[in-house]
Amino acid sequence: MVLPDALKLNLSHAYILVGEAEERLAVARAFAKKLNCQSNCNDSSADKICLSCKVFESGNHPDVFYVTGTKTTGIGVEDVRSQIVQEMTTSPFKYRYKIFIIDKAETITPQAQNALLKTIEEPASYGVFLFLAEHVHNILLTVRSRCVTVKLGEIKKTSEHEAFAEEIASRIAHLDILEVMALYKRFEPFKESRESMSGVLDMLYLAYGRRIIEAGTANLTPEKLWFDSIAALQHTKRVLAQNGNFQLAVELMLLKLNGAM
Ligand SMILES: [Zn+2]
Repeated sequence: MVLPDALKLNLSHAYILVGEAEERLAVARAFAKKLNCQSNCNDSSADKICLSCKVFESGNHPDVFYVTGTKTTGIGVEDVRSQIVQEMTTSPFKYRYKIFIIDKAETITPQAQNALLKTIEEPASYGVFLFLAEHVHNILLTVRSRCVTVKLGEIKKTSEHEAFAEEIASRIAHLDILEVMALYKRFEPFKESRESMSGVLDMLYLAYGRRIIEAGTANLTPEKLWFDSIAALQHTKRVLAQNGNFQLAVELMLLKLNGAM
């Protein structure tokens, strides 16, 4: 699990993770596990797993709390008092942090959010609060202002774009013209989302940049096509930013990346 940068830096004690149910819970769990880890277990060179991570995986970590609503109306004042405020009055059972994972945070009633304010504003040093939500609309501004909001989903999208760009960059010079023109179909889905297209172009740019740098480090002469490709990508980005014809711009770019032009 790759954590978003905002979580890597570990700069707050209260976060709102906004994203799809599965992803936000997975990120929260990975983060909680890492915060209480005693020996960098995520580091691939770690040969043994620390006690905290072991206990975490078993699902019975004594210092990680999953806060849930006991009523159908959402997470209420009583839930917040008994599961968070009360719990925060004592130090962790054994590990560094007491971590509260509060899923469906958008269902915390306004009264309950107010009841939480003081706790998240001046928490004991061991308190970490992870609010997980589909959206932030129902979360009071007073709560939001005390939290770092992390929007998830971006990472997944970025890595998809990266894989796509890498595939294009590694194949395109070996294709014949018909195959190159057929590649346009793969770009068509981005036609309606200029933002995604811009992300793909950035990743292509990086893919060629990497090739040039790697050649340099290996004392090899970078191929001229790579430099031409970078120029072509910059040009395409400009054309699309000025609302130029999408298909024309992409086909021209593909021909240039192929070396046919
Ligand atoms: Zn560990």
